[in-house]
Amino acid sequence: MDATPVPVLAPVAISEDERAAIIEAVRDFAQSELEPHALQWDASSHFPRETLRLGGDLGLGGIYVREDVGGSGLTRSDAALIFEELAKGDPAIAAYISIHNMVAWMIDAYGSEPQRQEWLPLLTSMQGFGSYCLTEPGAGSDAAAIATSAIRSGDEYVLTGVKQFISGGGEASVYIVMARTDADAGARGITAFVVPADTPGLSFGQLEHKMGWNAQPTRQVILDEVRVPAAHILGGEGQGFKIAMSALDGGRINIAACSLGGAQWALDRAVKYVHERFTFGEPLAEKQAVVFALADMATELRAARALVRDAAAALDAKAPDASMQCAMAKRFATDAGFTVANQALQLHGGYGYLHDYGIEKVVRDLRVHQILEGTNEIMRVIIGRQLLAH
Ligand SMILES: Cc1cc2nc3c(=O)[nH]c(=O)nc-3n(C[C@H](O)[C@H](O)[C@H](O)COP(=O)(O)OP(=O)(O)OC[C@H]3O[C@@H](n4cnc5c(N)ncnc54)[C@H](O)[C@@H]3O)c2cc1C
Repeated sequence: MDATPVPVLAPVAISEDERAAIIEAVRDFAQSELEPHALQWDASSHFPRETLRLGGDLGLGGIYVREDVGGSGLTRSDAALIFEELAKGDPAIAAYISIHNMVAWMIDAYGSEPQRQEWLPLLTSMQGFGSYCLTEPGAGSDAAAIATSAIRSGDEYVLTGVKQFISGGGEASVYIVMARTDADAGARGITAFVVPADTPGLSFGQLEHKMGWNAQPTRQVILDEVRVPAAHILGGEGQGFKIAMSALDGGRINIAACSLGGAQWALDRAVKYVHERFTFGEPLAEKQAVVFALADMATELRAARALVRDAAAALDAKAPDASMQCAMAKRFATDAGFTVANQALQLHGGYGYLHDYGIEKVVRDLRVHQILEGTNEIMRVIIGRQLLAH
């Protein structure tokens, strides 16, 4: 197979007017198709396939995938704006769209031309969904310790192992599975495979019951002697870890942007609420402690947004320190997002704790952003490593 990655062309820059029109269309989608249903999907653990397909019609299935396979050809900076808007409608769905985009981008950036043509029209249209399969029961933060094996057998590889916490597991059509082709080569012994959902030997664990992100399924992905053609390798044998990590740079910006959107939604709710709620004969908005709390929330979010946009621009420019900037943005924005949403809940008093007000759902959804795509401790490891390298 052709192990040479297809060169990724720089996305075509769009005008400010075009960008504004795209963001407005995404905002409309989030307000009309996500927000009205978000609480219900959360309560019933409903994965809204049809709504996601509408998102595919809007170009959300391959935001920074090239246009010849149905992608939107936008930049990471555009994507950060898009994910913030989507998360105002529903952080759980926005975050799934982020993971789906990560998968589509991996195939666009590292796949051979036949692989691009085979899988990307399905993913960019969102007629099929993607899953990213790295974590295992015995390997989370230390992802290079994965044990899923891929053993060559003629023109095929035989994959065996268990992937843990897989977003979209059981619903996706395309699984990118990182597996070990060399038991002794550490990170360099890992290879990325495209595994279609209907491959014999592939099965799924039961739906995990989670604190948040209930509108998207999380399941184990179980590989029991799954045979895939060698032509399903992405980017060449031994390239899998590098590919998986490069996908996470962009994923971290998106997740950070989802935290911004969810927290901004909660802050907007709190600003409205403090005018309406009276205690001790006056609105909460008259109390300086409340105003100071709001001021800090807005300041934290603005700082986080600046960091996210800087990191996205660094990734677009392929800056040498882009990975560190993505880690900084992810660490700061997901911590700030959770704190702001939790403070918005506090300002709502007991009502903030009620499902119908929507704030507690955002708090639950944003909590996991501090854990996945590399925990915020691992973000500090990445930042520290780069700092100390000089
Ligand atoms: C809802 C959900 C969806 C997910 N979706 C996906 C998915 O689609 N695909 C996928 O591959 N994975 C997915 N994950 C997995 C996620 O990326 C991992 O949970 C995460 O990387 C942490 O791994 P772990 O849970 O094994 O924790 P561990 O690695 O066991 O870490 C436990 C604790 O130790 C800390 N720690 C570990 N090492 C260090 C260190 N060197 N220094 C300081 N502290 C450290 C961690 O920060 C954490 O606080 C998902 C997880 C969740 C909860």
